Amino acid sequence: MSVEDEVETEAVCRVCGYDGEVFWEGGWPTAAICPCCGNESDVGDASVMGLRNYRGYWVGHGAQWNDSLEGRRRKQQGWDLLEQMAQIPSRWR
Ligand SMILES: [Zn+2]
Repeated sequence: MSVEDEVETEAVCRVCGYDGEVFWEGGWPTAAICPCCGNESDVGDASVMGLRNYRGYWVGHGAQWNDSLEGRRRKQQGWDLLEQMAQIPSRWR
């Protein structure tokens, strides 16, 4: 990791691309749990290999929202999984 990466605040989930929560700050996990895929920072997403596994499992089980209320709200607003996943930074794909 470069110094630049370490000072970065990541407000986009590395697994699913959900944005709206700070997951990593200055290279450290915030222990935030993604309301979408349910990943906790540093648990499923500490490595590209690990998060690909997690993402594959999550998508393979229908990409269910961890926070079903929030999921319902987003779906009413026309939530689109592929659109959201397009926000995942290229290094975490
Ligand atoms: Zn997520």
